[in-house]
Amino acid sequence: MRNPFGKFLPLALVAIVLAANQARGAEILVGNQQAYRAAVESAEPGDTIILANGVWRDFEILFTGHGRAGEPITLTAETRGEVIISGRSNLRLAGEHLVVSGLVFRDGYTPTNTVIAFRGTRGDLAHHSRVTETVIDHFNNPERFETDFWVMMYGRHNRFDHNHLEGKSNAGVTMAVRLDSEDSRRNHHRIDHNYFGPRPVLGSNGGETLRIGTSTWSRTNSFTVVENNYFDRCNGEVEIISGKSGGNVFRGNVFHESQGTLTLRHGHGNTVENNVFLGNRVSHTGGIRVINRDQVVRNNYLRGLTGHRFGGALVVMNGVPNSPINRYDQVDGAIIENNSIIDSDHIELAAGSDEERSAPPINSVFRSNLVHNSDGRGIFTAYDDLSGIDFQANVIHESTAPGANPPEPGDAFVYSSIRLRQSANGLLHPASEEFNGIGVPRDLAVLKREATGVSWYPKPGPDVRFGFGQTREIGPGLDSIFDAVAEAGAGDTISLLPGEYLESKIVVVDRPLAIHAPTGEATIEFERTALFEIVDGGSLRLEGLELSGMSAPDVAGNSAIRTSRYSMVSPYVLELENVTVSDLNSNHSFDFFSPAKHTFANLVRITNSRFRNITGDVLALELETEDLGIYNAETITIRNSIFENIEGALANVYRGGTDESTFGPHFELSASTLLSVGNGSRNATNASVRLHGAQDVEIIDNTLSGSEPIRITTIVGDPVNTLDRNRFENTPLPIIGDASETGP
Ligand code: CA
Repeated sequence: MRNPFGKFLPLALVAIVLAANQARGAEILVGNQQAYRAAVESAEPGDTIILANGVWRDFEILFTGHGRAGEPITLTAETRGEVIISGRSNLRLAGEHLVVSGLVFRDGYTPTNTVIAFRGTRGDLAHHSRVTETVIDHFNNPERFETDFWVMMYGRHNRFDHNHLEGKSNAGVTMAVRLDSEDSRRNHHRIDHNYFGPRPVLGSNGGETLRIGTSTWSRTNSFTVVENNYFDRCNGEVEIISGKSGGNVFRGNVFHESQGTLTLRHGHGNTVENNVFLGNRVSHTGGIRVINRDQVVRNNYLRGLTGHRFGGALVVMNGVPNSPINRYDQVDGAIIENNSIIDSDHIELAAGSDEERSAPPINSVFRSNLVHNSDGRGIFTAYDDLSGIDFQANVIHESTAPGANPPEPGDAFVYSSIRLRQSANGLLHPASEEFNGIGVPRDLAVLKREATGVSWYPKPGPDVRFGFGQTREIGPGLDSIFDAVAEAGAGDTISLLPGEYLESKIVVVDRPLAIHAPTGEATIEFERTALFEIVDGGSLRLEGLELSGMSAPDVAGNSAIRTSRYSMVSPYVLELENVTVSDLNSNHSFDFFSPAKHTFANLVRITNSRFRNITGDVLALELETEDLGIYNAETITIRNSIFENIEGALANVYRGGTDESTFGPHFELSASTLLSVGNGSRNATNASVRLHGAQDVEIIDNTLSGSEPIRITTIVGDPVNTLDRNRFENTPLPIIGDASETGP
């Protein structure tokens, strides 16, 4: 028995070791990095190296060795879940028949570009190896746009299973299969029973949860099987899974409230079958997007998906004739059959048809699919010639309100009144046997969330941002808010008694907090260049407060609320309800809210609030100016509020570049009044509301008086701009168009 740890093993463990020795090699408990390295060096097939319980800081684990089939070399935890790898750490496997299990990566990030790599150095790959029951939890580089990857699979015949990956928030795909060397192609990897937990919106390309291949090797087969994984709120960007190689199988996975689609972006001959997509009507939830040759999409259950355009429930794209490898190969030979599409909004056929993407699908069949919207809404949109798709025996719930291009009734599309019934697996099926053979089979297996990941690490609950902690009541005075915030726990509510509050320090918010007062009875002034600073992990909800800039310093560029001056890896939320903000005017360019570059708000919401006498912008969301498709806020909602004498813009939102990987920014301004907004000489936007590159705009029921115009610059994609029932008094009409029409 080798014991590089140099201590006596506990008696119980000795007994295990002796027993194990006869069967399958030694078990070696190690307690520090040096002992670990010695153990790896001398490990033989069948040996198990055990990391002692505790926190291992700054541990770059290189696990090399040559096990044998049935006699792998194993690296595991003394107790699963009690070995924490933290700080600047990572894991590399190189060799063959290696198994890693039971580790938790938390409270740190990788100093390299990968947390877990199936290779040591370039050319030194892992084969026939497995990572199982391992957790990576919020192991993010604190610099949001410092790109890294959590898992990179190289080599062949590797397995990644029963792992728990949660909270990837910086740039870079969560997990990728690489085909960039000959001995990583045709790899036959298995990726199964993993829990892919919530991944927040990144606000840029590079937020995929799983990518297989890259465009360079996309006409090569990967033969990777992705089965029985649970994708829970994987919202990083438009592609949840980006398939960029051939011969892969995506089977039996569940996509729960995930914004985006499983996209067969590049590569031929992939199979997508027996998957369950449950959108629960969450915005931008999508299904499957088909591009390239010989794709099979079969027996998938898609319900409650709201996504549109390339993010629909089912999207079949147009291709580019003789496409370059990085564009769109024509859909040829697709088989799309026995899918159930229920209570979903969009099926898009020949999508993306334009001058470049002019090749519609050919040699394809679309048959025995069930389409059922309980309210009878039609959901098909065709963008080009569909004569290359053979439609057969699809059944559509009798439609009273057809979509843009309802298919003609006939043998290809049978319209009928269909009653659905829930089967034992929780899925809806036609009650009548008349429709047997249409849609998914009644006994389709539905993967349970508990069957994925590990049992010993909790899976996250629903998204609740505010109000789940305690309520603390405080009275007026100097720095009483600062003191209360410093002591508050995540989710707490601080309740202000009536009176005057003065803050002499910037109140730093590093966890979700709500601050509440009876309407108009608590006024807050502040003496620093900002009242609140939201830093990483923070979110803020204000309700009923009166904020005044009267005591702010006489310098330019103050703000009432700002973010950390540095990158924040966690997206935040800022909500104002029934708040009055006044006299941000001690000097010029005093903004209400000014976040920093490389910070990202999931939501900025202002409702029932009043703003007056402000020398800067109310919302200055224009920090990402490199035109890389990056922006500062996903959803901006302003309702039922009044803005009066604002020298800058009410909102200045900028998203530049032609990248199409995001759904946002979304902007809503409704039932609000703007009086003299945007007229300050320093307002470079010459707008009261300036939206550059927003994807989804709703401006409804507002009154603008004596204000600069609304300027909306459309850049890329298919932005939806809805402007309706607005009144413009002494205010130019909105200017909407490309940059040549609206100014940059
Ligand atoms: Ca992408």
